[in-house]
Amino acid sequence: MRKIEFFDTTLRDGEQSAGINLNTKEKLEIARQLEKYGVSIIEAGFPASSPGDFEAVKLIADTVKNSVVTGLARSIKSDIETSWEALKGGVQPHLHTFIATSPIHMQYKLNKTPEQVIEIAVESVKLAKKYFPLVQWSAEDATRSDKDFLVRIMNEVIKAGATTINIPDTVGYASPIEYGALFKYLSENVTGIEKVKLSAHCHDDLGMAVANTLAAIENGATQVEGTINGIGERAGNAALEEVAVALHIRNDYYQADSGIILKETKRTSQLVSQLTGVVIQPNKAVVGKNAFAHESGIHQDGMLKNPETYEIITPDLIGDVATELVLGKHSGRHAFFTRAAEMGFQLSDEKLNAAFVAFKKLADRKKEIAEEDLFVLLTDQQVKSGEVELYELEELVVHYENNVPTSTITVKVPSGEQVVETCAGSGAVEAIFNTLEKIVNGEVRILDYRVSSVSKGRDALGEAVINLTFNGKTSTGRNASQDVLKASARAYINAINRQLVNVHKRTSRSRSVNRCL
Ligand SMILES: [Zn+2]
Repeated sequence: MRKIEFFDTTLRDGEQSAGINLNTKEKLEIARQLEKYGVSIIEAGFPASSPGDFEAVKLIADTVKNSVVTGLARSIKSDIETSWEALKGGVQPHLHTFIATSPIHMQYKLNKTPEQVIEIAVESVKLAKKYFPLVQWSAEDATRSDKDFLVRIMNEVIKAGATTINIPDTVGYASPIEYGALFKYLSENVTGIEKVKLSAHCHDDLGMAVANTLAAIENGATQVEGTINGIGERAGNAALEEVAVALHIRNDYYQADSGIILKETKRTSQLVSQLTGVVIQPNKAVVGKNAFAHESGIHQDGMLKNPETYEIITPDLIGDVATELVLGKHSGRHAFFTRAAEMGFQLSDEKLNAAFVAFKKLADRKKEIAEEDLFVLLTDQQVKSGEVELYELEELVVHYENNVPTSTITVKVPSGEQVVETCAGSGAVEAIFNTLEKIVNGEVRILDYRVSSVSKGRDALGEAVINLTFNGKTSTGRNASQDVLKASARAYINAINRQLVNVHKRTSRSRSVNRCL
């Protein structure tokens, strides 16, 4: 059975999409989970793009042992050298470098002739090989490039020492038959291609990313790239969990093994969704909330007689197991710690104790604590930076006077003093945001704001996710609480705090503004 290497770019291609910004701790947490999930390669970021990215890539390369860690570099000397500094601590240092090869990109973006592009690609691969044992070279916008030009440039970069050749469908333009044919053509015409890994990287602009990836596998790809939950630029990347499950369920057809630990699928998907704030659509294949729900009477009847009548994937396969054991008010420290360990959390004693306190507080107000609640609670502890919160919510009062919602908020500000402000709004949330804007002393624009319920029932935790710009910089804040107004206020403050303590400073990305304030 041939092995397909899984190259995960959740932390690079996924993280660079609109509205997502993860701090170093969160990136490390995702990387650790990807390692458990069994991906061969983790693309941890773009080290030369910002000091924050550099720091995160370095930490991940120094920590992860069972997956190769890579970073992206343009065909620029300083990018490659900076990447080496970030990645050299890895078990097998790996660099991912690229240059555009399509006529439109070469002419308008690079302003270079095809000959110059070949020269730059060869030089950058040669330079990378001075440092890295593993060098992946990508032909950006390959699917809109001239096939014979691809053959020429690939002949040269393989000669220069590239160990993986990636053929990305950067703009999500190819159809499965075309993309498969391109792999076949290159496999048959590029000199030395059998000595290197051949990789697929697909985007979902036309909804064909996973289908294209599978077509590439059928036509010689030995590595596939994608992200968890398919997050990424624009319509996103190929969802790796879908590719892995397809290879497993249709093993009779693909005859290929992914090396992915499928039982870690649900957990990996949940973690990425929680930390990025990107909600999974309910009908999404494999990990959607409804992926295993059968509503039709005919289906339900069949399922009762034999589950295989309508169910090709079992929830069990992806680790979506319904746990009977729910914790409640009377659960003690031991039961809580055992459950946390069973769920795969490895927290320090200090963090476990803090999580237990939060659990007790919640259990006082909520009858049954579901797996989802525990997951949110424990992950929050796991990624907590331990730094002092600069702004801290102390008290929140909302009242309506003549139908006008007004909020009065007490916040501990960075100087240590308490500040109280009051503001009205056309809704309670707007009143809260208006009040907080006064307190944080800067211009805040709300780009996106969402509240969703973590588990079932009227006493469920509500999770608020807010994406805002504060004095021109973008960040995302999150908080879960039974009171959605409090969760919203805390998520807002969390977004502001992240910028002030932030390690991960990156220039703000422009994005259209959803009206909120
Ligand atoms: Zn991409």
